[in-house]
Amino acid sequence: MHEYSIVQALLAQVTAEARNHGATAVRRVEISIGELAGVEPDLLETAFEYFRERTICTKAELVSRRIAAAWACRVCGRERRQQSYLRCERCARPFDLVRGDEIILDKIDMEVPDV
Ligand SMILES: [Zn+2]
Repeated sequence: MHEYSIVQALLAQVTAEARNHGATAVRRVEISIGELAGVEPDLLETAFEYFRERTICTKAELVSRRIAAAWACRVCGRERRQQSYLRCERCARPFDLVRGDEIILDKIDMEVPDV
């Protein structure tokens, strides 16, 4: 399943980051999911709960936020919230998707022992 491979990649990234900081545990992982990323947040959370076992994230909470899609004209930067096959009124350029198909790792809250 799509969500499984995303979660495995996410855990690998979080684990690498936690190691770099000498963390002993991860408390919370915050991500943003674009509405066009093709990911079900519920499925992603379920997959996370399954795959976090025996990783540094075993007690971590996954918090996800939705990002609304947006399209923009590359020339003048005019933005639209809905997909449109129309061209920019000003530049006659087609609109490109600029937000909404990505998954971003925003924040990792980890326990780092005092040195
Ligand atoms: Zn334009």
